[in-house]
Amino acid sequence: MNSFANRLICWQKAYGRHDLPWQGESAYRIWLSEIMLQQTQVTTVIPYYLRFIKSFPDVVTLAAATEEQVLAHWSGLGYYARGRNLHKAAQLIAGKHGGEFPTDLEQILALPGIGRSTAAAIAALARHERYAILDGNVKRVLARYCGIDGWPGERRTEAKLWEVAEDLLPERDVAVYTQALMDMGATVCTRLRPRCANCPVQADCVALSTGRVEQLPAPRPRKLIPERTASFLLLKHGHEIMLEKRPPSGIWGGLWCAPQLDETDETSYLLRNDMEISRRVELEAFTHTFTHFKLHIRPVLLELAHKPIRAQQQGCIWLDVDEALGAAIPSPVRQLLLTLQASSRVS
Ligand code: SF4
Repeated sequence: MNSFANRLICWQKAYGRHDLPWQGESAYRIWLSEIMLQQTQVTTVIPYYLRFIKSFPDVVTLAAATEEQVLAHWSGLGYYARGRNLHKAAQLIAGKHGGEFPTDLEQILALPGIGRSTAAAIAALARHERYAILDGNVKRVLARYCGIDGWPGERRTEAKLWEVAEDLLPERDVAVYTQALMDMGATVCTRLRPRCANCPVQADCVALSTGRVEQLPAPRPRKLIPERTASFLLLKHGHEIMLEKRPPSGIWGGLWCAPQLDETDETSYLLRNDMEISRRVELEAFTHTFTHFKLHIRPVLLELAHKPIRAQQQGCIWLDVDEALGAAIPSPVRQLLLTLQASSRVS
């Protein structure tokens, strides 16, 4: 039988994806797409990717941008550390590598936000170098095809998967093979309802022959996700909304957010900041889920009688709602501003 790699390569040429906007592009653009694609679907990524390269067509332009500009382009895509690391890495490339994306795998790996699989994907796709990738989709394909038990996030299982990924690597056509693995994971060997009847390696897939397609890969051992509740204060004066800059690290680091009250009581916050309220409306609560916890958000619209002194202080801005929607804001804040805009509470 033809090797796993050969079957995948033939399949990719006939049925794989050939029109993704970063395919055949520079290492910089492939890197950008790989970072955006972490935890995010292709259809979501494409418009972000196109907007991003329009503003930052190469690594030097990205390095010269401010973090604020980069995060504004990332706004809504989530996992903002990715955007911050991308910016830091671009500055390193501009400073240490003369603006040229490094060719050496060790140098690529040394850049912030780039792990083994991402570095290998850049080397394989942009430079046709022989390196194995192992992202979430590939882990699923290989765990099923080779019948590997265990949760892929566990060190021993992951090591086994890396071993298999290296063993299956072809001598030639590495770029097509890498794309084939990605395409297989995204379109055939999907998490739910994989299309085994259309799979190029169905003939010797262990999961299929042993009836374990649904069971592999083993899920993450169940752990209760902690839950927190917070109030988001939508402080409004005239047509403007007040936003606060989050600390540089942690959740939504460096983004503009509505003031968030965890334990603090609203009245003492308003008194402390010399804020007098003319109208108070509780908006519909909703939940935002992070990978490691759930945040139940209770938004409160507070119309201020006058703009407080604190408005002039560093770390706070007052913006028109339309303008705020173009700033570096996390998606729950975007969602709230869109609701406000739609309901004409802010007009
Ligand atoms: Fe995945 Fe099914 Fe193909 Fe096996 S036969 S690799 S489970 S799509």
